[in-house]
Amino acid sequence: MKTETTLRIAIQTKGRLNEESVELIKECGIKLTIGKRQLLSPAKNFPIEVLYLRDDDIPESVADGVADVGIVGENEMLEKDKNVELVKRLGFSRCRLSLAIPKGEFYAGREWFEGKKIATSYPVILEKYFREKKINAEIHVITGSVEIAPGIGLADAIFDIVSSGGTLVSNGLQEVEVVTPSEAVLIKTPGLPPEKQCILDELLFRVESVERSKGKKYILLNAPNEKLSKIIEMLPGMKSPTVMPLAESGWSSVHSVIEEKFFWENISELKSLGAEGILVLPIEKMII
Ligand code: AMP
Repeated sequence: MKTETTLRIAIQTKGRLNEESVELIKECGIKLTIGKRQLLSPAKNFPIEVLYLRDDDIPESVADGVADVGIVGENEMLEKDKNVELVKRLGFSRCRLSLAIPKGEFYAGREWFEGKKIATSYPVILEKYFREKKINAEIHVITGSVEIAPGIGLADAIFDIVSSGGTLVSNGLQEVEVVTPSEAVLIKTPGLPPEKQCILDELLFRVESVERSKGKKYILLNAPNEKLSKIIEMLPGMKSPTVMPLAESGWSSVHSVIEEKFFWENISELKSLGAEGILVLPIEKMII
């Protein structure tokens, strides 16, 4: 790609989103020149530069145009409520924002929260939810260790990020309402100039090629010709499987792309149909 323009992409300096964002950029074949100790890291072989920021600064930086695009948790995007456009959900760092109450409390529905005090670091999302559901509750903002608030008498319940649910259980809490799911998202500044949009489109093309290959495997197997049609029926492939004759007459080699889980579920049937010499290989990128 020949261009003088550079697309500035904001990602999180540290934490779980940093690693997965850097990994995604690498999987797109983009080489970053300097480590994350530097605030700004230009890429060697693609017209982007990475700006490392705290996650809660990313929505505003993108809204103001300090960064053209950003990778951030949907939870932060919703909470900051800035003027940014959601370009793409990226499928990693999945979690949910949930309401949780002390274990053992009887819970018959959302009315439980009426008049209660809820501790959270996400007051904007929670306020909007309670307004929509017509619940009057007191929102108490705390920035860390939200889950300990009910145990120390600071609040009746909490609203926080839940992933495995382990943190809730170890603090004697039960999840009662999922308010919104969240994952890493790619956001952009409104009115991105066309030359930057062009770089973003190329980046998205690469991200989608990487995404498409996730969980997919390339399978090669040898099959007796009389069983070919049954085996091909099982292996749809991207368009249709490739079939090539083997040097030994009466046999063919079949190549296809499959979901990894398909392999484990169907290996016995493939073998019983006479498939031999089965190879399953990783796929790095998939362009269709
Ligand atoms: P868990 O015990 O797996 O439910 O994780 C709960 C805690 O991990 C939350 O209180 C968050 O601080 C953090 N956490 C889990 N998933 C994420 C995520 N995708 N993004 C940011 N923080 C997360």
